[in-house]
Amino acid sequence: MPFLNTILNSILNVIFPVNCISCGIGGTDLCVKCLSETPLAERETAKWIFPLYDYRHPPIKKALWLLKYSGKKRLARIFAENIHGKIIEELSELSVMENFNDAILIPIPLSPKRHRERGYNQAELICKELIKIEKINHLSPPSAPLSISKWRGVGGEVFTLRSNILIKPNETEHQARIKNRAERLKNIVGSFSIKNYQQNEEMIKKRNIILIDDITTTGATLSEAKKILKKSGARKVIAFTVAH
Ligand SMILES: [Zn+2]
Repeated sequence: MPFLNTILNSILNVIFPVNCISCGIGGTDLCVKCLSETPLAERETAKWIFPLYDYRHPPIKKALWLLKYSGKKRLARIFAENIHGKIIEELSELSVMENFNDAILIPIPLSPKRHRERGYNQAELICKELIKIEKINHLSPPSAPLSISKWRGVGGEVFTLRSNILIKPNETEHQARIKNRAERLKNIVGSFSIKNYQQNEEMIKKRNIILIDDITTTGATLSEAKKILKKSGARKVIAFTVAH
């Protein structure tokens, strides 16, 4: 009932006004104008990591903090819309050049302890929004070139979500608190594993995988996750993040 939804949203907007965290304009948590003025990530990363925005830009820093620690979950949708565009752009090339098709989407996991404290995993929220966007696109596909159907899975989607395969059994020191890359790697090594390996191995074997995280700094976390997935037989692993 879209009409009722619109009324409900208007009422909610009066009771709980939504404003852009950067410029304050009403109606959205981060407005299109502020996002379009955000510098893209241009500092060097590993070739398989695709970050969207420059983390040093204060509104992005603030938005990611609010998404992660302050329960502003709607920001996941805004970021997912932009990451989705970037995934489609990169896949159009990777599909042809590297046969990167029918991918599975895996969020970088939190430890159970941190998940309990926070109540949600921000990377998983972004993944869930990506799936919703993908479903909408699939139902009313944009006039895309024929080649796109090639990288869609059985259900017609570009990717499917697998939230519970990659796990982080134990808590590690916050990567952000460690400045040095070698120390960051040491901190994260061995921290990921595959849940129910015997059952889930088949889902990973020979599959193309897209890792999703909110921020990458040195790439240590993503590299460690990639290592475990490759060890378990994954074909190719790439990663998308909101910021670098
Ligand atoms: Zn704004």
